[in-house]
Amino acid sequence: MDKQIKCGHCANWNDGNEENCTQCGKMINEVYLKEKEILSKAQGMRLPLIEIPEDDNFIKKGLKYGFRFGQLIFFAIISFVAAMSASTVH
Ligand SMILES: [Zn+2]
Repeated sequence: MDKQIKCGHCANWNDGNEENCTQCGKMINEVYLKEKEILSKAQGMRLPLIEIPEDDNFIKKGLKYGFRFGQLIFFAIISFVAAMSASTVH
């Protein structure tokens, strides 16, 4: 797969495997890598929360809101632990 990446600094087209622009020597994957990083973070943050239909009755809604709150707490703990382990890696 020969992917071409355009340099964001001088607009020169480079081989996708190159880390630096062959023309100006600056990092060409910078933006692409950031995008990938943000995307993977966003995907990791997508919470599989339960749906709460508007036509549910009061009790059902109450239960679901309680359940969703529990989910949020759970994910908050998970992301906290993940952040902690990521920051302590040397
Ligand atoms: Zn360049």
